[in-house]
Amino acid sequence: MIVISTTVPKVQKWLEDAFLQYAPQGSYCLADSEQAIYATTAVSWFPDLDHLEKLPELKLIHSMAAGVEHLNLDRIGTQYKVCRVVDQLHQKGMFDYLQWGVLYYQRFFDQAFVQKRQQRWRQYPQREHAELKIGIMGLGQMGGYMAKQFAALGYQVSGWSRSPKNIAHVSCYAGDEDFDTFLGQAEILINLLPLTENNQGILSKSLFDLLPEQACIINCGRGQHLVEQDLINYLDSGRLRGAILDVFSKEPLVENHPLWQHEKVVITPHVASHAPWSVVVNQILENDQRVIQGQALLNQVDTLKGY
Ligand code: NDP
Repeated sequence: MIVISTTVPKVQKWLEDAFLQYAPQGSYCLADSEQAIYATTAVSWFPDLDHLEKLPELKLIHSMAAGVEHLNLDRIGTQYKVCRVVDQLHQKGMFDYLQWGVLYYQRFFDQAFVQKRQQRWRQYPQREHAELKIGIMGLGQMGGYMAKQFAALGYQVSGWSRSPKNIAHVSCYAGDEDFDTFLGQAEILINLLPLTENNQGILSKSLFDLLPEQACIINCGRGQHLVEQDLINYLDSGRLRGAILDVFSKEPLVENHPLWQHEKVVITPHVASHAPWSVVVNQILENDQRVIQGQALLNQVDTLKGY
């Protein structure tokens, strides 16, 4: 039995609709129903842990998404198993978004918008893929896939992770000792790190200082990775060229936030990529069966590492 557990009303509705459409009747229930005491798995986004901890059969807390920072892993510890969603269409959706973002800068569409407002006709160069250096922070399910796809298109790709990686046609860097070298090559820096205790605020002035002049940032990780005021300062000074932001420390981004008005910032409302609901529901149903039968789980998270 799967219980839907979220403190976000909009997400509650999404999950109810998705389970109604894709899960067999009787396989899931709402948090306030009598069946919840039989729940073995909770599907969650900012769950009510006080409530979940009262459920006697609960073994697994399953993120409805790729990220797990919203689950409060510090509190969960090793009390429950934790899983997340990994999916090829999810990866492909992210690549579509990022390819658009890279082309936006590569083909100077950011300039085109400025020039249109000024009614100014000035042509810009056509940069080839092979000239452009893309740096990807995080080389997991998302970042690793993006690195391979961009490399296959002929871009110069480098990537950075915690542990060393070996990806064909990608310059792989790992750990603190390689960070400066990695950043020095990233004309377009893409963040696909999971949010953990030790990388909050990583996109800040000390990182920006290490990027090439006029570098661009694409943040698809989490809003808390970014120190927003540092970004604004570096854009205003001209040290950075622009930023595409999909995630924010507080979502929805508040009215009148300076980022809304900034002409060098593109804002998308956390839509870079979502796994199809059918996939989300089926992965959770599958993991519920596995946890009941004591089998290995799909896409299990290391709660101590935080991702
Ligand atoms: P994975 O867990 O598969 O990969 C995480 C990667 O980040 C790994 O390569 C890991 O290194 C690296 N990493 C983690 N911490 C550090 C650190 N402190 N220093 C260096 N590298 C680090 O996650 P996914 O690729 O599936 O997803 C990543 C994130 O992308 C999600 O957590 C979510 O926040 C975001 N996301 C955003 C979406 C959106 O629509 N905006 C959609 C989907 C995901 P190592 O391999 O060595 O462990």
